[in-house]
Amino acid sequence: MSFNHSLSARSAPPAAITIGLSDLKILRRVIAMALRYRRGMAVALVTTIIAALFQLMIPQYLGQAVDSAQGLLGDGDPAAARAALWQTAFLLLGASILRGLFTMWHNYQGEAVGQRIAYDLRMAYYAQLQRLSFGFHDQTHTGELVTRGMLDIEGIRMVINAGIMRLVLIAFLLGIGAVLLLRQDVLLGLIALSFVPFAAWRSIVARLRLRASWLALQEKMGVLTRVMEENLGGIRVVRAFAAQPHELAKFDEVSEETLTLADRRIDIRVRNTAAMTYAFFIAMGLLLWVGGGKVLAGEISVGMLAEYLAFMAILQMPVRQLGMTVNAFARASMSGGRLFEILDREPEIADRPGAEDLEISDAALRFEHVSFAYEGSAARGEPALVTLHDISFEVKAGQTLGIVGPPGSGKSTIAHLIPRYYDVGAGRITIDSQDVREVTLASLRRAVSLVQQDTFLFTASIENNVAYGDPWAERERIAQSSETARLHDYIAGLPRGYETLVGERGVSLSGGQRQRLSIARSILVEAHILVFDDSTAAVDAATEQGIREALRSQSAGRATIIIAHRLGSLMNADEIVFLEEGRIVERGSHAALMALGGRYASLYRLQSVGNEPSDADAETDREGER
Ligand code: ADP
Repeated sequence: MSFNHSLSARSAPPAAITIGLSDLKILRRVIAMALRYRRGMAVALVTTIIAALFQLMIPQYLGQAVDSAQGLLGDGDPAAARAALWQTAFLLLGASILRGLFTMWHNYQGEAVGQRIAYDLRMAYYAQLQRLSFGFHDQTHTGELVTRGMLDIEGIRMVINAGIMRLVLIAFLLGIGAVLLLRQDVLLGLIALSFVPFAAWRSIVARLRLRASWLALQEKMGVLTRVMEENLGGIRVVRAFAAQPHELAKFDEVSEETLTLADRRIDIRVRNTAAMTYAFFIAMGLLLWVGGGKVLAGEISVGMLAEYLAFMAILQMPVRQLGMTVNAFARASMSGGRLFEILDREPEIADRPGAEDLEISDAALRFEHVSFAYEGSAARGEPALVTLHDISFEVKAGQTLGIVGPPGSGKSTIAHLIPRYYDVGAGRITIDSQDVREVTLASLRRAVSLVQQDTFLFTASIENNVAYGDPWAERERIAQSSETARLHDYIAGLPRGYETLVGERGVSLSGGQRQRLSIARSILVEAHILVFDDSTAAVDAATEQGIREALRSQSAGRATIIIAHRLGSLMNADEIVFLEEGRIVERGSHAALMALGGRYASLYRLQSVGNEPSDADAETDREGER
């Protein structure tokens, strides 16, 4: 197994700490999203500024308080000094309370706007994933899509509070703070502010380095998760081959790399925090030295020195956090870039403008000289292999078409073209003479029901799983579909019957039961064209026979396509096509194909001699809960 994680190429840390034009464009777009909530943003901005102003008042009142206290100790009027001290104390208390309230308000407001944007993005992203075609999903790693949907949206959400609002706060505190400090005494002001550039620089550099190492760490965590997931998913294989030591070694290797990265992060953090603290205390020492001299010389009051010290303490935190702010912007632009790339994508398969609903009369499905190649290989730089060549056939209501052929000959591809999971490369597919590309996707997919090779069950009750395509179906119809799929008796025998939960937390169904549930789900929707894509491979021949007979009795208005390896499944079809390397090499009824004595006939003989070998793997009635 390779440890290359599919996210690695995309989430590689930016090589240089520069904000390019496209980053600015992305940030502009995020800000435009925030501006949809104009009122919220305006309130957040105003409260941020007010909180900053109240915070800036605190050092001044502190200075005044010190001077008043000194007056109390000196030989002036003690009553007046006490009154002044009380007054300052109240002002200080008032400013602190108001500053706290406005800080709370701006944090709430900034966070609320961020959460709303996250909600909008999450919904838009999820909706887009539903729209994007299979061609896109074939080429994109599911894990990466999940990451984008979670971490990247989080990255954008955070920029409102931790980026924009914090930047406003820092700008106000630093800007007005600097003016106030320099206005009273330029030298002391410069000393008090001297730590700012250094601390800001270290904070930004440290944050961006931490960010790069965080990304690397995430990547390693992704690999760890995947190793663990694979191990748990394949736990039976691991135990069967006594491969626990190998699995442990594999995990240990990645785990150690993760630890090294975590160590590096601690190193960056500790070094930079120490450097910033040093710079701050050196500046404070200098301020005390020079300022103390000025106090002794009677140039400034003790209160003013206290005011400068208080200013330094107030400026320290936001300056240290400047790195977080820059990081929030860097993260948002990267996350935004990745997310918008998906949101802006136009699905290749979509309704044509003015497309109308499919109208069914005979449910006649025709393939007319259809050729097709998957794009995926071409996108990966491999030559696009033509999967289907010049395929033509017709199947009408009440008829059945059988498709047979070796693995990889293109059988499933034919099935996927009918509901337009992909569009044909050449030729056309029509239903009752309407090109499937010209009608609405929703009506097409209502008309075609595809029972897939891979059964997928939702973590929900059996009833909900069967009724997935028609949530309003009555229990009777659900039971009838299950009966047709030969699953009703099994379900009825379960203690909770149709209410039984399936999936990880519920009952475990065998392969054959899953397939039958999937069949029940597809027949419930009563589509006009029913396609079975090797969907009874895990069902024993007798049960399959029962399903086919039940379906035949109900299928007067329905065209059926059966793709199967087991010829017994499709020998009664009106027409059988034998596919090889994407071409129809033989076609006709079972009798005609047997008479032809070609590939079909030899496959039939092989299966008869082998006594239907796939039955050996198929379920038996002993199948059931694990
Ligand atoms: P069958 O159903 O007869 O086993 P398929 O129709 O699944 O065959 O596949 C036909 C060929 O197309 C195979 O070579 C397979 O590798 C390729 N193929 C199938 N699905 C995809 C896909 N999503 N992207 C690229 N190639 C595919």
